[in-house]
Amino acid sequence: LMQLSVPLNFIGFIYREIRQGLTDMEQMFDLLTVRQEVKDDPDAPPLTVTAGAIRFENVRFAYDPEREILKGISFDVPAGSSVAIVGPSGAGKSTISRLLFRFYDTSSGQITIDGQNIAKVSQHSLRAAIGIVPQDTVLFNDSIAYNIAYGRPGATEAEVYRAAALAQIGNFIESLPDGYKTMVGERGLKLSGGEKQRVAIARTILKAPPILVLDEATSALDTHTEQEIQGALTLVSRERTTLTIAHRLSTIVDADEIIVLRAGEIAERGTHASLLAQRGLYAEMWSMQREVDEAEEALERARAAD
Ligand code: ADP
Ligand code: MG
Repeated sequence: LMQLSVPLNFIGFIYREIRQGLTDMEQMFDLLTVRQEVKDDPDAPPLTVTAGAIRFENVRFAYDPEREILKGISFDVPAGSSVAIVGPSGAGKSTISRLLFRFYDTSSGQITIDGQNIAKVSQHSLRAAIGIVPQDTVLFNDSIAYNIAYGRPGATEAEVYRAAALAQIGNFIESLPDGYKTMVGERGLKLSGGEKQRVAIARTILKAPPILVLDEATSALDTHTEQEIQGALTLVSRERTTLTIAHRLSTIVDADEIIVLRAGEIAERGTHASLLAQRGLYAEMWSMQREVDEAEEALERARAAD
């Protein structure tokens, strides 16, 4: 066993080094532009955002040709409105946000922003127009300040602090010995999932993009912090085209349209009230969520009484 443990440690060491190298490389080339899957046309024009209207037209997609993930999805997010996507895990919700950011190209159908096919414009201009708060945020091996300002290079310190405060992470950062200069990422201070998510939210608040994509943006937060951040998210999404992938249904009851995705197809769509009236999948998810919420509240009360 002794004999084995040395090489294993060594492999672990090499593995970490390689991972670190990859993270640095991603950082160097910019995580968002290095992917091989998609290529710009040689003379791809920049995206011109006039209003920020998103349209998915009969979009099909498969990561692996054997298994189709999105099976002909069509929907509109009118400029300035908010559309929510809900549905069971694995339904293809995050895939929709990845396609909008053009991490991958569709297999057929198209996605347009203000009438321009996103596959025909430069990736750089597309990604500059969209702010994503992803499900799992990967931080750069740099200071917290850098990680927030990445949303808008050239932002002033005051702007960074304000974004952090709105994202409910300002006080936490100030409590650290090195404050905003604290190094994070793989080699620095390990932040919790909720803290990383708040850094991503601060980054997006600072970027203030015309289009906002929130992929379960508050899923790693406790209910209390979630409620506080929800206010900031509502603020940034006002007047902006917003696509929200919702984890907790209570956060999207006011969406202009809710799309219920099941196994890569749109199963139901409508407002919260009309979906409840349909007594289908959404109504079922809603009542299940209520039961979970009530159980959690009861648990919290029991804990408080202890
Ligand atoms: P959701 O966000 O609704 O939970 P996703 O869009 O993340 O679902 O994933 C939809 C399906 O695609 C899942 O079955 C998932 O396993 C699969 N999938 C996601 N990412 C990849 C990938 N990079 N390669 C292969 N399959 C993937
Ligand atoms: Mg997802």
